[in-house]
Amino acid sequence: MHERDRRNKRHHGEPAPQPAKPRKSLIMQTPVLVLNASYEPINICAARRAIVLVLKGLAMPEEENGHFLHAARLAMRVPSVIRLLEYRRIPHQTRALSRKNILLRDRNTCQYCGVLLSSGDLTLDHVIPRSRGGSSTWENLVACCHPCNRRKGNHLLGETEMKLMKEPRPFTLHTSRHIMRMIGRSDTKWRKYLFY
Ligand SMILES: [Zn+2]
Repeated sequence: MHERDRRNKRHHGEPAPQPAKPRKSLIMQTPVLVLNASYEPINICAARRAIVLVLKGLAMPEEENGHFLHAARLAMRVPSVIRLLEYRRIPHQTRALSRKNILLRDRNTCQYCGVLLSSGDLTLDHVIPRSRGGSSTWENLVACCHPCNRRKGNHLLGETEMKLMKEPRPFTLHTSRHIMRMIGRSDTKWRKYLFY
């Protein structure tokens, strides 16, 4: 068969591809909880990625979200929770050091007085001030309200009456789990994997 014939045959045999409906693309973006083989929640991904993992045989659906996906040669329920089939060792998972992630880690709470504020009303405080040799690291940066920031000024903590609510640490899986819980609070299917 000539190349042209083959092309023509395909054109006659198959309907022209339809442009993706917006609704479908929205469904493909819904968050899916990813569990390790041990059922430990380790991540959140978009439904699209979760379906790829399932189709590749790397994960299996544990819960479905009620939507149905119809694609070319495929009809499947969209997962809400998937589980990896092979246990994945999670390295000390650390996020990029950024203002946003520091505020996320500290839950938008001033680490000196405990007041909960919007991101715009918080600043970052160097526990050991930069002028005293303090660096910009996870361990030396905390969320701080403006009054506490002014009160502390260029002092070391030991020179003030102020105390940290908790020792600042890098953003770890523990922190991620807190965020998974915040997102999962509204999804009853996630709850049993996140709250125990
Ligand atoms: Zn404060």
